[in-house]
Amino acid sequence: MRAMRFHEHGGPEVFRADEVPLPEPGPGQARVKLEAVGVNFIDIYHRMGTYKVALPFTPGQEGAGVVDALGAGVTGLRLGERVAYAFSGGAYAEYTLVPADKLVPVPDGVSSAFAAAVMLQGTTAHYLATDTFALGPGHTALIHAAAGGTGNLLVQMAKLRGARVIATASTEAKRALATAAGADAVLPYEDFDTATRALTLGAGVDVVYDSVGRDTFDRSLNCLRPRGVLALFGHASGTVSPVDPLTLMSKGSLYLTRPTLGNYLQTREELLRRAGDVLGWLGSGAVKARIDRSLPLSEAGAAQAALAGRATTGKVVLIP
Ligand code: NDP
Repeated sequence: MRAMRFHEHGGPEVFRADEVPLPEPGPGQARVKLEAVGVNFIDIYHRMGTYKVALPFTPGQEGAGVVDALGAGVTGLRLGERVAYAFSGGAYAEYTLVPADKLVPVPDGVSSAFAAAVMLQGTTAHYLATDTFALGPGHTALIHAAAGGTGNLLVQMAKLRGARVIATASTEAKRALATAAGADAVLPYEDFDTATRALTLGAGVDVVYDSVGRDTFDRSLNCLRPRGVLALFGHASGTVSPVDPLTLMSKGSLYLTRPTLGNYLQTREELLRRAGDVLGWLGSGAVKARIDRSLPLSEAGAAQAALAGRATTGKVVLIP
């Protein structure tokens, strides 16, 4: 089978289309014939060596397709069943092995491309809105990069939960997408902290969801009410420098958390609940996912370059 791998860290050009043996599922594993693969920043961090991996390496943390073979001891799955998953490696390939307990069924009304598009970003938006800070009516959230994959889903889920949403995005076209997702006010990044204060009549927001990192972090802290929560869940613009705890005191006894999906998918029940909600909302139209572009698997490098280059609105999907 074909896999898009790299043998050294570097730019998008390090990808090679390698012919590798079809993997055989071990105990507890299923082999999935991939129909769509989601592209994520973590794949870029793996390629660049920001997160260390053993080489050669096949990136990719999410996908959707059909169950093609089962390892010993796997129950509750049948061959040919449509499934999706997130947070298991090796997705930039025609086939991949996934622990069976990470697979969730895909409802009939949801295509494999859309299932692959929401597994990682959708479950992330879900845990951020429901658990990192449990949004509800009366809350105001500031959500950065609201035309992005995770940000746009998070805006929609925050609105489903009855919160008021202030959003940021870099261009007029991206701000229009944030408005279409339901944001109550959408700001450019310039002076977003001053503008957020004004929009909340000086009070500040209950929570900031920050996936941009270096370029927004300090000003995000300025937007919070006393005892507000900064959920720093990504660093699309670069990583954030160490924080002096006294800064959190002086800006209002703030809470800072750096959540990551793995800690919010700790059990099979948790996975089924979050993925079930997300895929269910997608099927019913309560939440809409946006596929920015679908590219052949062989264009993995171009797909990553578009995401890293700030050129996307919504999800980038690879089709094996
Ligand atoms: P997006 O689709 O949101 O793309 C990133 C967006 O960030 C861009 O579209 C851009 O929107 C904004 N951005 C701001 N500054 C930059 C910059 N210098 N370079 C590139 N983009 C920039 O990506 P994702 O939703 O997939 O991921 C966003 C971040 O969240 C990543 O760091 C990712 O690793 C992280 N993440 C974390 C998870 C977790 O559980 N903690 C799970 C999923 C993702 P604009 O032009 O409007 O600013």
